[in-house]
Amino acid sequence: MSFDTVIHDGLIATTEGVTTGDIGITDGRITAMAEKLPGGTRRIDAGGRVVMPGGIETHAHIAQESSSGVMTADDYLSGSISAAFGGNSSFIPFAAQQRGESVDDVLKTYHARGARSVIDYSYHLIISDPTQKVLAEELPRAFARGITSFKVFMTYDLMNIGDGGMLDILTVARKHGAITMVHAENNEMVKWMNRQLADRGLTAPRYHAISRPELAEQEAINRAVQLAKLADATLFVVHVSTEGGADIIRREQFNGAKLFAETCPQYLSLTRDDLDRPGMEGAKYICSPPLRDAATQDALWHHIRMGTFVGVHSDHAPYRADETGKFVNGFDVPYPKLANGMPGIALRLPWLFSEGVVAGRITLEQFVGLSSTNTAKVFGCTTKGRLAPGMDADIAIWDPETRYTVTLADQHDNMDYTPLDGHDLTGRPETVLTRGAVVVDKGTLVAREGQGQFFGRAPVDLRARPGAMVKEFDPAQNFGAELRG
Ligand SMILES: [Zn+2]
Repeated sequence: MSFDTVIHDGLIATTEGVTTGDIGITDGRITAMAEKLPGGTRRIDAGGRVVMPGGIETHAHIAQESSSGVMTADDYLSGSISAAFGGNSSFIPFAAQQRGESVDDVLKTYHARGARSVIDYSYHLIISDPTQKVLAEELPRAFARGITSFKVFMTYDLMNIGDGGMLDILTVARKHGAITMVHAENNEMVKWMNRQLADRGLTAPRYHAISRPELAEQEAINRAVQLAKLADATLFVVHVSTEGGADIIRREQFNGAKLFAETCPQYLSLTRDDLDRPGMEGAKYICSPPLRDAATQDALWHHIRMGTFVGVHSDHAPYRADETGKFVNGFDVPYPKLANGMPGIALRLPWLFSEGVVAGRITLEQFVGLSSTNTAKVFGCTTKGRLAPGMDADIAIWDPETRYTVTLADQHDNMDYTPLDGHDLTGRPETVLTRGAVVVDKGTLVAREGQGQFFGRAPVDLRARPGAMVKEFDPAQNFGAELRG
């Protein structure tokens, strides 16, 4: 057998274990894995390196306008380059519908934006306006094109679709095998807290964290899960930031709900104290849900080890600390007028590797699962997220031992700050391939703009998560028959 590329003598890491060997690549796919493979037009020496599936970043805001119209600093070129330097071979950013927009038009817009990507990409749809046309025609059409995940918001006045809207989306998603993602925070609790703080003149960045209580997340997660159970639909809770929220998810998973969740590095690495930095520095650390505390970090790590979270994703929401981003409404404005979100797509995996694997909190096998394999299954990336013959040659080669300090200068995004500035990390990706094409070669970008391809996705894999029909819909319980179908 002849290979285009052979990755030679690497420590091959999968969710199953670690072995030493070679990987042969032909026409963009893995075609052989063995202890020794001869040949290869190109041979990549991976001696002393860890070879793993390329990361799949499934929570990133790229070339996306916020509901108030602020454009992210990263487009699909800078965002994908940044992702690749962070060990990712593909990503699934959001394609966001604003109120009044047609989903068909949204996808047309994002297809044009995505065309610049250097790594493979897909989208989750954000739905803020679930009209009859969206529910009956446009979501099924998007699903048929391989866009099998729809995100909804329970917070923000311009995004929140209400419990009824959520039930409608969940029902359409269930019918087609799609997964509904949810940003779960109780909108009224947050608005009430905002009024309490405003009445007292408490408007500095630090009050952002106070304004979005842990209870607001816990209440909304619980409500979202009950709504999904009523619709017998699959739910994915994004960016879980509280111990109470994670505990609810764990319990409901144990009870058989079709329920998945993620957390993000910022909730494990930073705390609300970072919002207390002098002047408006704290604005850089504003994200929603907000940063919490050290005790929460310990609890979230525990849930990572227990499998409550299928992935740790960045929630990359790059708004520069200038008038194009954070300070679009002015520099000295109350916290509700500051743009929400922080960058993190390049450091998600290096940070998780260092603080997780190197620090002994998780195993390398768990790391592989959290970075690609688990979410590939949940989001239907059938040719990605695993190293096996027949799979796409989406591969990251890591130097597991190099030590370095994070600096803004080493980043490849369009941002003017990095929240992890000054953190000391161990281990980072050196070489990243997408479908066999080298994107980053020993720390140097070699990709061509637009070499990434859109990939459609399959329905969520629900083996071992059968869900359960609630009594009111169960034909075996007298009153169920009328409601079926
Ligand atoms: Zn997000």
